[in-house]
Amino acid sequence: MSKRLTVLVVLSLVIVLAGGAIFLRGRLPVAEDIGEVPQETEELQKVTATVETDLYAAARDQMVERGIIAYGIVSPEVIAVMRRVPRHQFVPDEYLHLAYENNPLPIGYGQTISQPYIVALMTQELDVEAGDKVLEIGTGSGYQAAVLAELDIEVFTIEIVEPLALEAEQRLEELAYESIHVRNADGYFGWPEEAPFDAIIVTAAPDNIPQPLLQQLKIGGVLVIPVGPIGGVQELWRVTRLSLDEFQSTSLGGVRFVPFTRTLD
Ligand code: SAH
Repeated sequence: MSKRLTVLVVLSLVIVLAGGAIFLRGRLPVAEDIGEVPQETEELQKVTATVETDLYAAARDQMVERGIIAYGIVSPEVIAVMRRVPRHQFVPDEYLHLAYENNPLPIGYGQTISQPYIVALMTQELDVEAGDKVLEIGTGSGYQAAVLAELDIEVFTIEIVEPLALEAEQRLEELAYESIHVRNADGYFGWPEEAPFDAIIVTAAPDNIPQPLLQQLKIGGVLVIPVGPIGGVQELWRVTRLSLDEFQSTSLGGVRFVPFTRTLD
């Protein structure tokens, strides 16, 4: 008797569930009812790219207003260039969402892309004009070099970490920065074959100014360089070459840069 009852209960349950499923099947959309998921077309890619470009441009404008103009950068050329250069193309993918924060970001090998305000400040202090020839020591991501190139400067940039030099060279080529020349070497010695330079910018901190860099400046040329102890606060200097053997230095305040390293050989 109870066995029969159990069978009956199980049977009615099956019938109710099956009925429910059939009922719902008619109402709920199931995968095959939706049809094919749209493939990513060229059109869709274009729309996505435009939306992204606009979002980044808005973020970049905000960075310039709050992190550059509000901090006292006044050069109209530098401000215009900071609004143009796509910093998000120079940061690793995992930091894309932070590309337009006013902070340095890791780029691998213990190195960083500099804070946008510092890039703007150093560029302003170099006091360059279109057609000038500038040497940069510390290519890193290539961002600072791109900022200079957009001012119609011919840029010679040296990076000591080989993979970073190669990555930056490839990135700058893809972004069509044809006036930037990247070299993998110890920047202590400068780039004698291309000297003298209208300006030299050093984006890693040595504890003393490398003499070869001073010698590769044109008379009237400017060197902008952080100098100070590793891991501590360094002082940013603007050094102007007044004559063959006279230099004038002005402090631009405290900064924090990665160390200027040397090759062992
Ligand atoms: N200008 C860079 C910031 C890079 S951080 C940017 O815009 O992204 C400083 C870089 O200087 C690091 O990549 C580091 O490897 C490099 N560097 C340190 N000592 C160097 C040296 N002696 N010669 C050349 N590059 C050096």
